[in-house]
Amino acid sequence: MAESVGIGKTGKNGLLFNSRYGPRLILGGLVTSAALPEITWPDQKEIGCPEGCFICQENCPVRAIDKIGKVNRLACAKYSQKTPLFSYLMKTKTFDPADVPMLNHVTGVDDHAMYTCIKCVSTCPYTA
Ligand code: SF4
Ligand code: SF4
Repeated sequence: MAESVGIGKTGKNGLLFNSRYGPRLILGGLVTSAALPEITWPDQKEIGCPEGCFICQENCPVRAIDKIGKVNRLACAKYSQKTPLFSYLMKTKTFDPADVPMLNHVTGVDDHAMYTCIKCVSTCPYTA
């Protein structure tokens, strides 16, 4: 969707890439019945990651991104998906084992609580 409206291109780290902000983008949406003016398209034509750049691939601690930008999601998830809430509850032993599926869903829905590695974003030299 973001590619279609010209915000960016799928980058070599598998994330949306914008030439000004790199992969540091969070998309949001709003459902409304308000009468709004027509959409404005970005002035700039996004061309995506520079051909010779492989910084994100080279910095991935588990080499989960190949040179054409295909991400091995399992390798990434195994390394980067830690659930702080889950770890906290395990440490403090303040949860009922029967709640494990529910806790998994809670942390799964809130994506930002899960990822402890963002090297493929933080090492990208494109930043505003
Ligand atoms: S989040 Fe970390 S492990 Fe996953 S692809 Fe990016 S750098 Fe690799
Ligand atoms: S580090 Fe290079 S290849 Fe990776 S997302 Fe940034 S510009 Fe693209």
